[in-house]
Amino acid sequence: MSFKIQAYDQHWVKNLRAGGMDDNGQTAEHAVSDGGGNPCRSCLDYIAKDAEMLIAGARPFGQLNPYAECGPVFFCAEDCTPWSGDALPPVLQNSPDYLVKAYSADDRIIYGTGQITLVAELAGYITTLLNRAGVAFVDIRSSRNNCFAARAVRT
Ligand SMILES: [Zn+2]
Repeated sequence: MSFKIQAYDQHWVKNLRAGGMDDNGQTAEHAVSDGGGNPCRSCLDYIAKDAEMLIAGARPFGQLNPYAECGPVFFCAEDCTPWSGDALPPVLQNSPDYLVKAYSADDRIIYGTGQITLVAELAGYITTLLNRAGVAFVDIRSSRNNCFAARAVRT
């Protein structure tokens, strides 16, 4: 692939696990995974059934602006190995489709790039967007719930 999928910012995750605030100014909620629908944004795999997890409000952008969405994300409650693989991680292979959007270097949506993308076409569409001038990164979200899943950047 000509891109890599990033695990969520590890400084932020470590702070959250230690009882720090999320991007809504609240500590994480503790819950138990149902085993199928709880993707961890750090290891980018599904949290095992009955394992403890954290639910937090996350704004995956470096600055505040009108486009900086904040929404719910899950993490393994215990330390997990951040995703670093070259392929699409498990959390980007389990849904029929995903919402894909490109952003500029100042963290703004590039209109016209947002598209519900079939999982079989995901890598191709991410590559197409990252080959465009002006695209700094591509975010992949749930096409059902709009939750942030992961970010793709050029390698
Ligand atoms: Zn995890």
